[in-house]
Amino acid sequence: MNALMSNYARYPLALVRGRGSRVWDAKDREYIDFVAGIAVNTLGHAHPAMVQAIAEQAATMIHCSNLYHIPLQTRLAERLCALAGLDEAFFCNSGAEANEAAIKLARKYFHDRGMPRHTIITANASFHGRTLATLTATGQDKVKQGFTPLPAGFKHVPLNDLAALEQAIDEQTAAVMLEPIQGEGGVHIAEDAYLRAVRALCDKQGLLLIFDEVQTGIGRTGHMFAFEHAGVRPDILTLAKGLGGGVPIGATLARREVSASFGPGSHGSTFGGNPLSCRAALTVLDVIERERIIEHVRDAGAMLRSGLESLCAQFACLAGARGRGLLLGLALKENLASDIIERAREEGLLLLPAGNNVVRCTPALNIPRDDIRQGLDRLTLALTRLGGHR
Ligand SMILES: *Cc1c(COP(=O)(O)O)cnc(C)c1O
Repeated sequence: MNALMSNYARYPLALVRGRGSRVWDAKDREYIDFVAGIAVNTLGHAHPAMVQAIAEQAATMIHCSNLYHIPLQTRLAERLCALAGLDEAFFCNSGAEANEAAIKLARKYFHDRGMPRHTIITANASFHGRTLATLTATGQDKVKQGFTPLPAGFKHVPLNDLAALEQAIDEQTAAVMLEPIQGEGGVHIAEDAYLRAVRALCDKQGLLLIFDEVQTGIGRTGHMFAFEHAGVRPDILTLAKGLGGGVPIGATLARREVSASFGPGSHGSTFGGNPLSCRAALTVLDVIERERIIEHVRDAGAMLRSGLESLCAQFACLAGARGRGLLLGLALKENLASDIIERAREEGLLLLPAGNNVVRCTPALNIPRDDIRQGLDRLTLALTRLGGHR
């Protein structure tokens, strides 16, 4: 028995250090890391530029409060807005908080216009976080069990079904919130044509479009933001996971016309955008640019995907590979995800599940090709031990 609450079903493994895409447990056993802290460790573990920037910033100033101007926060906001084609940013500490801010901002935007619009429509199987509002936004019943009463004002529709979305819209609808690729929900892609049609529909009806890129943002899918695949810009964009390379930071970006509704005192966060987390995020963006990491994501993603596809040809339990860049899912014919993940771990490879019957890979964006090759070898051994060769 220990003193931690039991809310996490943890694997029987304690990781104590890492370097690049390799991690070690307390017994000094080495693993190839296809999880990267769930799409968080953008530059892998202990990247020298991250180590140096964080150490330097810790020795300068970690935190000072949003009572004051924070030059690093201003710089990060300018940098992210320029990349996303949006105007203003708010910083917090997690994905749920970034989405919570997006939901509040959408409601406030219509409130400020004297309009009774407040409902947010999201997709079935979506995941938007664990706060009361964001778990209500989440299109999965399992995260809601036992937490009623839930906040009002959320509706869910099937993904990639424009007619269903059109039907769900009424005079109370404020916004549509979508993940360009559902990460937790099973690596389901929102089709480019669907996203373009949703954008057009929102424009026609005067609704806000929110993209939750907490998992897909910051290079993960082979573009800085996944919305670039469809060529569709949201009114509000949320980021977190990979943004700080492991240091907690979340962001909500918006067009100025929308962000103007967050006037002084309307929203806030004690830790949000402190000098340490902003320095970490600026370093992530610097290194992505300097080391041409987005190109690497496309290359490495194609390589990992073709490796997964060739496993699908070899093993009968595998149904197919899907995803984009380095957010990839291996779909299974039966519920073997935890068996495969366990065997892979025994072979020295870390993987994670997504939705029902999907094994997910979200490695560091700079994972070396050799680590992908060896990871695939370890996965092959794991699947062989599980049986089920064609
Ligand atoms: C992980 C995730 C969240 C929640 O992020 P937290 O930092 O755990 O609060 C929200 N949306 C998406 C798409 C995510 O993948």
